[in-house]
Amino acid sequence: MWIGGNWVEAESGKTYPVYNPATELEVAQVPLGGKADVDKAVAAARKALPKWSTKSQAERSQLVLKLATLLRESAKEIGELDTLEHGTPAKRAVFLAADTPGWFEWAAYSAKSLMGHTLPASPETLIYLQREPVGVVAIITPWNLPLLMIFQKLGPALALGNTCVIKPPSINSLTALKLAEIIEKLELPPGTVNVITGPGGTVGEALAAHHDVDMVAFTGSSETGKAIMSLASGTVKRLQLELGGKNPAIILDDADVNAAANAMAKQQTNNSGQICGSPGRFYVHEKVYDEFLEKFTVAMKKFVMGDPLDPKTELGPLVSAQHRDRVEGYIQSAIDEGAKVILGGKRPTTPPMNKGYYVLPTIITGITPKMKVAREEIFGPVACFMQPFKSDEEVIALANDNVYGLTSWVWTTDMARGMRFANQIQAGTVGLGQGRGGGGPEFPWGGFKESGIGKEGSLYGMLEFTNLKRIAVDLVTPKKSV
Ligand code: NDP
Repeated sequence: MWIGGNWVEAESGKTYPVYNPATELEVAQVPLGGKADVDKAVAAARKALPKWSTKSQAERSQLVLKLATLLRESAKEIGELDTLEHGTPAKRAVFLAADTPGWFEWAAYSAKSLMGHTLPASPETLIYLQREPVGVVAIITPWNLPLLMIFQKLGPALALGNTCVIKPPSINSLTALKLAEIIEKLELPPGTVNVITGPGGTVGEALAAHHDVDMVAFTGSSETGKAIMSLASGTVKRLQLELGGKNPAIILDDADVNAAANAMAKQQTNNSGQICGSPGRFYVHEKVYDEFLEKFTVAMKKFVMGDPLDPKTELGPLVSAQHRDRVEGYIQSAIDEGAKVILGGKRPTTPPMNKGYYVLPTIITGITPKMKVAREEIFGPVACFMQPFKSDEEVIALANDNVYGLTSWVWTTDMARGMRFANQIQAGTVGLGQGRGGGGPEFPWGGFKESGIGKEGSLYGMLEFTNLKRIAVDLVTPKKSV
């Protein structure tokens, strides 16, 4: 682990294995961090805070930009690690490693462009507003996109003068350790960034509850998000929570069915379905239901599943045996509750996929609103088709009938109709047709309801990592009499 600018073992001296999900073989042992390591890392981050936060914005932004350059230079190596520990198909892994440092560039430039405000008070008073770093930020992230999830938080946190303790996902922590190796080259004040590996139940909880952590920036499941809210309440920490989704994809009767089927199949299988913003519930108008389902099925069958190291592979394994069991459990629950699996639903048996945690692209139909697969996030290559709908009012109510509110799609060729949907859907993002809004640092991303609190990306995401201070200056303070 990397604490206070030093490479250290866990205080316990223990390690745990990391496995390759495509081969089931162990690829590394990493330190099993615990509460004592968290205390050391938080103390290091606290000590670094005055040195890092008082550097000029120009110097901090320069260093953050340099980090983006160093990361791009290591993109091949980072991509290989992502393939090894996460099963990301090689071509995509290298693309992600080269593309995602853009988050640091965005943060470096937008931190430089933050401006202050003055408020009208009286001729005798000047009131101005100042943005300051929040302080020590704990960054706790999930395994589904191991580096991007860190970059989205680390970029703004660092650029704006905070110091950080990163707790990467325990099953995918090699890329985060590589990131620390790269950050080491920047020679930041020791402790500005720290990385602790280990389980959420100990390292994550200790960070969320720690009296000297000022903010928790978290991406993960809503269940863990709620636990973090409760742990963080003891010291009223700032929270940024990017949580789960069960995202409605609505296909109206005037949609371009072909375009919708192809685009949605791609979304469904992106990262083997392990994306918070994947479609979670398909609602298709009864007039185009059969046509859409047929085209969507054809598109789902086309993806090449295989060894992530093979450049032709588009679909890799799921991240772990435990997660595969969970996805299979959802498929079984759908069958038990009366839904029908019309594609996939099984593990592939042809080599090399007879090893590794693969699940074939799957389509389930005949789902009703109360079924488990209609309500909970599956996080796999599993498309859930709800029963066909008849009217706009009916489908808006169905789409909103869920605890999540992350993202959504409405496919129509009538933009006025689409905009009526956009106004009524309860989600942080509504994509009308192809225009999903896209990812990327310049766009805000974040959920409504149990999908989270706060935004990532854009100026809104930057401001999460600042405290706003009001400073009132009395311009006519009487002079001290001598
Ligand atoms: P988890 O919530 O299980 O874990 C996320 C992180 O929290 C991991 O580092 C985990 O550690 C840690 N953690 C686990 N328990 C605790 C705890 N009690 N206290 C503090 N930290 C804890 O999520 P997954 O890793 O399974 O990721 C999948 C989830 O992430 C999905 O729900 C998905 O929707 C969501 N997600 C949301 C995104 C968004 O932008 N809204 C983007 C990407 C994913 P460990 O690894 O050791 O378990």
